[in-house]
Amino acid sequence: MLPTSTNILIVGTGPAGLACAISLAVNGYKDIAIVDARPSGRTLSRAIVIHAQTLEELDTVGCADRLNARGLHAKYMTVRAQSTLLAKANFTSLAPRTRYPWALLISQAETEEILEERMNELGITILRPYNVTGMKSVEGGMLVQFETGETIKARYVVGADGSRSTIRQLAGIPFRDPLTGKEPHAERPRGVETDRELEKRLGKELVIADVHLSGRIPPEVNTEELSVFLSPLQFLLLVPLPSLKDDPNGRTVYRMSCPAEPGSADVTLPRLQTVLDSALGHLPHGGKPRVDRILWSSNFRVKSAVADRFFARLGDGAVALIGDAGHVHSPAGGQGMNLGIRDAIQLGRTLADVLRREADPGAAPHAARAYALQRLGQFSEERRRMAVQVIRMTKVMTWATGLETLPAQKMRDVVWWLMGRGSFVNNRLALRLSGLQAVEQTKKPAPAPAQQMSISVTGIENGIRSLLSKDPQSLQQGAGGAAIRVFSYVVLFACLLFPTVWLRRAVPLAAGVHA
Ligand SMILES: Cc1cc2nc3c(=O)[nH]c(=O)nc-3n(C[C@H](O)[C@H](O)[C@H](O)COP(=O)(O)OP(=O)(O)OC[C@H]3O[C@@H](n4cnc5c(N)ncnc54)[C@H](O)[C@@H]3O)c2cc1C
Repeated sequence: MLPTSTNILIVGTGPAGLACAISLAVNGYKDIAIVDARPSGRTLSRAIVIHAQTLEELDTVGCADRLNARGLHAKYMTVRAQSTLLAKANFTSLAPRTRYPWALLISQAETEEILEERMNELGITILRPYNVTGMKSVEGGMLVQFETGETIKARYVVGADGSRSTIRQLAGIPFRDPLTGKEPHAERPRGVETDRELEKRLGKELVIADVHLSGRIPPEVNTEELSVFLSPLQFLLLVPLPSLKDDPNGRTVYRMSCPAEPGSADVTLPRLQTVLDSALGHLPHGGKPRVDRILWSSNFRVKSAVADRFFARLGDGAVALIGDAGHVHSPAGGQGMNLGIRDAIQLGRTLADVLRREADPGAAPHAARAYALQRLGQFSEERRRMAVQVIRMTKVMTWATGLETLPAQKMRDVVWWLMGRGSFVNNRLALRLSGLQAVEQTKKPAPAPAQQMSISVTGIENGIRSLLSKDPQSLQQGAGGAAIRVFSYVVLFACLLFPTVWLRRAVPLAAGVHA
């Protein structure tokens, strides 16, 4: 039953809401109510990867071992242009930095099931269906109203209610693309008539589908790899997932993601087969898998946005945002759910600490309040910075895989192939995707100016983005650093180009002859 008051109300029971409740309870705080508008849990797979830094965080709340036992441990993420291996992000190279040197492949439905199981063990259960429709600041906290007419008073309200967050909107926190300043459009904007115009305004529509494959599967597609195949017409992401619990044959499920068929709202089996044939048809060892069955599919359009603040004090109460309520972006690199779980565990720790301080009879109320503002302000700044970094990275990845003209694609393939020759770039890519790099950067002191000249993946991305950007503000901020970074990039590129063996290989690749 819904209580009339609580210290913390968590709205939303996706991975972020569940992880926040677990983190609060593990850190000694259980005066929580957690609600969801849905009458029951979800069965959709959506996010499929849990990265190393997220596993490290999940371990602090007793969930990593259970997840690791259920998922597949992928060692590599490979990018191929037809038969040519362009890059191979090597997650095993993370071993000195983490106990989890892999990308864990597991469906979001299973992840949520495991998190809910852990939360129940800690004595917290979900209250549903409770759809939040209103919220106002009152003496001593926030009064939250539900569709049923019931209300609950809470000192802190945690918005874990997804990308269209009601809590974010009721708190009046803007949500926009940090690079363009635009708000994401959920619907077709007014005046946009054709699909082509829509694509230009909102980006391409993509398909995700979980399927069963049969027939001979090429060795390049195995349970140790997440594979991206680039071809002149499209890209295909192909990722193995553990078999479904109720499948008596224990068959591997495959996640396919590719551009949607123009003008078609449905994901069809022939369309997926065509994309699969064109992606795998050039592999040297052959094998022609057949798409047997679509288990689940969805169309979506890539949007990027971040909340202006992840914490806001409203009178006596306060609101914090986590997960998709705070940030949305392209699924490239499987970052969304990871970022959300990490926001949630950090917020749980911070809130538990703040509430402990407030409950201390020896602490002066104004000092406890100042402490809360400082800790939660820090949380907000740090999580927003992480979200903006991920938005930048996923925009670059989406842009690179979606290039449309043949010369641009060839150029991309050659650059990628050259960069992917040594282990340095492949290992850095794995480090970046894992989330470990972002955390290491926050622990480091600010770099001295001379160190800022060193080549980093972030630097290259930011430099290229700011040089390519038509946004004057972005150019202003990035132009000086960008020149240095692009210069460093050209030097690196020239060094890589030099050896004749690479030159001999690069020329046929650019000409479209694949080994
Ligand atoms: C099609 C698709 C594919 C995706 N693929 C990937 C991927 O490959 N990799 C990846 O990392 N991420 C992926 N994502 C993103 C990932 O699913 C999200 O990042 C993740 O689900 C966010 O978790 P969350 O807990 O913040 O929000 P959600 O999972 O959206 O949960 C929000 C919860 O809040 C509840 N709620 C909403 N409004 C209210 C209200 N007013 N009152 C009460 N409850 C409410 C909802 O019922 C829901 O249960 C994908 C998303 C989509 C849509």
